[in-house]
Amino acid sequence: FRALVERLPAALYIAGFGPEATWNYVSPRIEALLGFSAGDWMADASLWMRQMHPDDRDRVQREEDEDWSREPGVVSASEYRMVARDGRVVWIRDEAVIIADEHGVPSFFRGYIIDITAQKNAEQALRQSEEQTRRIIDTASYAYIAMGRDGSVIDWNQAAEQTFGWTREEILGKPLADRIIPTDQRDPHRQGLSQFMKTGEGPVLGTRLEVNALHRDGREFPVELTIWAVGTGDSASFSALVHDITLRKELERQLQHQAFHDSLTGLANRALFADRLAHAMARQRARRSLAVVFLDLDDFKTVNDSLGHAAGDQLLTAVAERLRGVMRPEDTVARFGGDEFAILLEETTREAARRVAERVLAALRSPFDLQGKQVFARGSAGVAITQSGSSADDLLRHADLAMYTAKARGKGRIEFFEPRMHLAVIRRQELRTELEHAISRQDFVLHYQPFVDLRNGRLTGLEALVRWRHPERGLIEPAEFIPAAEETGLIVPLGAWVAGEATRQLAEWDAAGVLPRTNGQRPLISVNVSTRQLADPGLVPMISQALKDASLEPNRLLLEITESTLMADVADTEETLVLLRGIGVQLAMDDFGTGYSSLSYLERLPVDLLKIDRSFTASLGDDREIPVLLRSIIKLGQTLGLQVLAEGIERADQVVRLRELGCRLGQGYHFSPPLPADAVPEAVAHHWESALTA
Ligand code: C2E
Ligand code: MG
Ligand code: MG
Repeated sequence: FRALVERLPAALYIAGFGPEATWNYVSPRIEALLGFSAGDWMADASLWMRQMHPDDRDRVQREEDEDWSREPGVVSASEYRMVARDGRVVWIRDEAVIIADEHGVPSFFRGYIIDITAQKNAEQALRQSEEQTRRIIDTASYAYIAMGRDGSVIDWNQAAEQTFGWTREEILGKPLADRIIPTDQRDPHRQGLSQFMKTGEGPVLGTRLEVNALHRDGREFPVELTIWAVGTGDSASFSALVHDITLRKELERQLQHQAFHDSLTGLANRALFADRLAHAMARQRARRSLAVVFLDLDDFKTVNDSLGHAAGDQLLTAVAERLRGVMRPEDTVARFGGDEFAILLEETTREAARRVAERVLAALRSPFDLQGKQVFARGSAGVAITQSGSSADDLLRHADLAMYTAKARGKGRIEFFEPRMHLAVIRRQELRTELEHAISRQDFVLHYQPFVDLRNGRLTGLEALVRWRHPERGLIEPAEFIPAAEETGLIVPLGAWVAGEATRQLAEWDAAGVLPRTNGQRPLISVNVSTRQLADPGLVPMISQALKDASLEPNRLLLEITESTLMADVADTEETLVLLRGIGVQLAMDDFGTGYSSLSYLERLPVDLLKIDRSFTASLGDDREIPVLLRSIIKLGQTLGLQVLAEGIERADQVVRLRELGCRLGQGYHFSPPLPADAVPEAVAHHWESALTA
């Protein structure tokens, strides 16, 4: 039995009560535990107290005093530190039973001692690590929430207080879902919880989620959260780290907006447009079309050059505003940069697309107020409609080509894409080379279109309009080659030829006496002058030479300058115009109302005649806003003592309306198209009196 006892890893003992009580028996194992032999212990009654760790002495003493009053047979246990013989501190667990004598008085302990140092160290390490975790949790910027298996809150850090608005005291022990989960997500939350309880599996566990959370004040906000389960079954609990991502989301939204929108106008940009177009094409239904409308402002550069970039930006913003105003919310309106806009129409037809394009151009027609100045804008539109087999890229390219063609054909108009437009682009290159030869060979001809006095139907002048006599293609309209002539500078020699030929022709008709006089005055000849010519220092000498060669009175010649030309460089233009006025020629502002001129320049510039653009005449009768604008332009001309002429009269009812509005002069197919020189005498011999009434 002794052999058995002595092999145990514990030291067994029998000892008396009290500090001075002697050890009756200690098993030899004690030496392995504390370094002192069994003999040492039994010989020295005070060794036990001496070797006890000073910090534990009082406590153990108190405990032992209590043991005195215990019932015999009761087990008392105590844990304390002893200092071993070699100085090591050893944690001891000491368990003993009190044994009574035959009178029932407690007389000694029977007990054992084991070494629990390893266990104690582990406990301490655990406690430290828990403290550390606690400190991390408390100071973390992420909200930390722990929830028991019944769904109540069991931990809640400071960041959680700030994130959700509930203090720790308020929420501990309360059901979590009711406080911080939005109503519509509570059911999924409970289901997830019960599924985990049943199966031990939860698909959301361990993954990073973005969900909405509920703040105490009722507001919902986005959070990122990671949940994990601790333990299983009855002892399961859940922990979550939650991060308020409201700011991140807002930033993401802004970045996304910025990536897909034009910062100046807030419209979609090219990237977003391309994306929408691709999607629209993917879900396009049979027999429904998709249209892209390209819009480019005409002469936008003029606004930038004359009024400055700020005004240019202001105009673009205002144009964007008007575009938004005329589109359905489901249509995409984008700015592609510069003065280029694109519109995506889904579920449309060719006719509907045309109506939209018309509405867009009409929306630009009323003047814009830029820094207190009234400015007119005009745009050219190109439309492309989906055809079977066409890609998004095709559609964009086609709309662009159509727009380009609209510009080349005289601006302010709408063109639908046609396959031969591709050809037109290639032809444009050839055109330039050919144009050079044509100018050296003078392969041009002038046609003449009458100006009519709307009061009596009499001829007051003839506008010379150039045509190119092409060896293979026949007569080519100016819209096809004037832009190229302007770009290449060939317009200077061409314009000189036109001025020479027009004045020569008028002198010839004068000599033949074939043109009727109106109110005793002989009709004048009108010649168009483009921007490039106006900037050419040779212009004034060229004009006076032409007049001299033809022996014409200078006031028989009228020079038509387009409004945007006038604006380009007001100071320089003004000087040239004053010089031209000085030699006695008359000046007209052509296509008035379509450029960007501020009306105030009209007062400054030496102009005799205002030619109102044909788009105003064309809209007479179908748009209630135009007559108001037309009326004020006519009024303005009259106030400034200018003559006013309406271009593009095609119907008698337009004549009637124009006369009512006080417009004195007119021009247009209704009276006569531009005619070859030899057809003029016969055409103008009669008056247009019968053409004045509807
Ligand atoms: P513009 O000076 O405004 O000339 C009037 C244009 O309108 C002419 O086109 C004329 O044929 C057209 N037109 C006249 N009546 C009507 C009508 O009732 N309805 C419609 N829809 N159109 C009408 P054209 O001859 O094709 O000339 C186009 C433009 O080319 C001219 O516009 C002018 O800016 C330019 N141009 C013509 N000849 C010359 C020239 O010798 N030199 C320069 N620099 N430009 C010229
Ligand atoms: Mg003209
Ligand atoms: Mg005109």
